[in-house]
Amino acid sequence: MSETARGLIFNKVQGSFVDGWGIRTTIFLKGCPLTCKWCCNPEGQSFAPVLKVTCDKCDGCGRCESLCPQKALTVRDGIVVVDRRACDVCGQCADFCWTGALEPFGRYYTVDEMFQFLQRDAAFYTSSGGGVTIGGGEATWHPGFVLPLMEKLHAAGIHVAIDTCGYVDTPEGLQVLKNADLLLFDIKGMDPARHLENTGVSNELIWRNLRMLGDMGKDIIIRMPIIPGYTDDDGEIRQAAEELSKIRSIRRVDILPVHQFGRVKYDQIGMEYTVDPTLTIPEERQQAIKALFEDYGFKTQIGG
Ligand code: SF4
Ligand code: SF4
Repeated sequence: MSETARGLIFNKVQGSFVDGWGIRTTIFLKGCPLTCKWCCNPEGQSFAPVLKVTCDKCDGCGRCESLCPQKALTVRDGIVVVDRRACDVCGQCADFCWTGALEPFGRYYTVDEMFQFLQRDAAFYTSSGGGVTIGGGEATWHPGFVLPLMEKLHAAGIHVAIDTCGYVDTPEGLQVLKNADLLLFDIKGMDPARHLENTGVSNELIWRNLRMLGDMGKDIIIRMPIIPGYTDDDGEIRQAAEELSKIRSIRRVDILPVHQFGRVKYDQIGMEYTVDPTLTIPEERQQAIKALFEDYGFKTQIGG
């Protein structure tokens, strides 16, 4: 593994309390094999950079139109419009647009550059029992970058969590999961056909990997998005609790009620949001699901 391998990062969050134990820095790698309909990080799905357009910030000055080498930008009715078939995400317009209406999602970092950034907060990790969380997108699909980064972090005594959808079958990708100190493992239902419809892939490989990691005794936090009409079937949730209760190394279950925080990003990157934007889950239903997992002996929280 080369330390010069590059990772395409679309977000970095310092001082996070929700991505594992203690105070953490979380980085998000672009590129995921799943396309969950409710995804709150749609900018992380594609494996390439993407141009983010925030129309509210555009003042219609029109200066970007002539600058774009691909002629992909036009100002219509005082607002910039991007032709995404023509744009090659060179980023020149983002450097030029003074209002911040144009920005690329995704910047390449070498392993060493990212390590230097992550270790800046080492004192916080040490004092809080925290560390670094690598998510996405999907970290296991970037092993050439993630494995050497984990090696450097471990050599520096830094705890590493991997936030994963669990959908990986390459030896290198599986090694990312095996090398993690903590796994934040997403579960999105029991029925393979419904899972395929909701996420673009079946869940059989995901459950196989989860059971394998449980057999290894890896520390695991289960994350379960509850999306009405997609993942909230009562029978499936009970079946999931039953199956998860057979995995002894699960430390906690996080119930993640539907939210709409990522919705605006669909517009910004030219994707369609197909989930009903008014969906919510009543508090009593959230508490009932929490109580169900607690009945199976899990430490359970809402949110995470
Ligand atoms: S995107 Fe920026 S440079 Fe282009 S018209 Fe809007 S404000 Fe001007
Ligand atoms: S990223 Fe490059 S190709 Fe795309 S709109 Fe901006 S200047 Fe044009």
